[in-house]
Amino acid sequence: MSVESTDPSLDHLGFEEVVRLLDAEGIRRAHAVPLFRWLQTGRRLNFEAPLERWLAARPGVCTEATRVSETPSADGETRKFLLRLADGQEVESVLMGFKGRHTACLSTQVGCAMGCVFCATGQMGFRRHLKVGEIIAQARFLETWLRENHDDRLRNIVMMGMGEPLHNFEATMQALELLTDTRGLGIGAPRVTISTVGHVPGIRKLARHPKRYSLAVSLHGATDEEREPLVPINRRWPLVELMDACREFSEIRNQRVFIAWTLIAGVNDDVAQARRLAELLKGMDVHVNLIPLNPTDGYAPQAPGAGEVLAFQRVLQDAGLPSTIRQRKGIDVGAGCGQLATRSGAL
Ligand code: SAH
Ligand code: SF4
Repeated sequence: MSVESTDPSLDHLGFEEVVRLLDAEGIRRAHAVPLFRWLQTGRRLNFEAPLERWLAARPGVCTEATRVSETPSADGETRKFLLRLADGQEVESVLMGFKGRHTACLSTQVGCAMGCVFCATGQMGFRRHLKVGEIIAQARFLETWLRENHDDRLRNIVMMGMGEPLHNFEATMQALELLTDTRGLGIGAPRVTISTVGHVPGIRKLARHPKRYSLAVSLHGATDEEREPLVPINRRWPLVELMDACREFSEIRNQRVFIAWTLIAGVNDDVAQARRLAELLKGMDVHVNLIPLNPTDGYAPQAPGAGEVLAFQRVLQDAGLPSTIRQRKGIDVGAGCGQLATRSGAL
């Protein structure tokens, strides 16, 4: 008999599935509420004897995500966790914003298949998709850490860790269904941001999804010639198609789209590019996030200076496009955007 034939975890199950499971096991369905809450948040409340007994005979109901290391940033505002999964693969999850409302940055894959040249995860290549329970386990870990250390809870989730969430569409959407369930973590759907490199079929599906998740699209280039060397997947989904999908998303949902632009000195930071970006986004309901490049081992170019960043932003402003310069949070711990990668030599 194979020892690995069944995964005993239950944290990928929806509330109704937990109810049905307990029914089938002869446990009163009233126990579903504390069980689901515990699976999703790590919080153990109102456990009664029959549930305790049933769980005692069932190890492994929570998907494994064990802390390997924990690194706070110098300003104390960001904390990066390296978590080991059951098969030895490792992912990074980040907590941000200890002064305000806490945000969890979750991974959806080990590595990434999209190959963006300036991104540490892209430089690793693709290892595998995360399962629903592995995404939940990250959120549960961060929620538990916050409860124990700050007596607080998660308010926002960004799918901006390792991987391309829309390349792992089903697992990501199932996980978000659980994370937004008020019987679990209960994060409001608009407080969940899905960040994509521009996975066109995924954006079109998301446009028709009943929950109002926020969408961020990573652009980095305003023409195919400029974007393709940075974001190779642009060959598969070129800008005309991508912008059409973004417009569709905005129009169907009457929702603003966030555009991410990683600024790289001498590559995509001059005012001529800013003008092309403004032209590309004309008439769209968007907000642009400008992210000065964070250093990674596999990419030599640098972030622009503050003057260039401001000049780029001024062009957008003059064109009537709202934008924000993303603070360089967590750079010192390698937890900035695109710096997430497991240590070299990991399994
Ligand atoms: N795969 C998704 C989500 C994860 S990446 C995506 O690409 O959108 C999260 C964000 O970090 C993206 O906007 C990405 O372009 C950006 N990013 C990647 N590497 C970076 C780097 N070295 N410096 C700054 N931003 C980076
Ligand atoms: Fe993947 Fe996003 Fe990194 Fe590109 S930026 S390689 S899509 S994680």
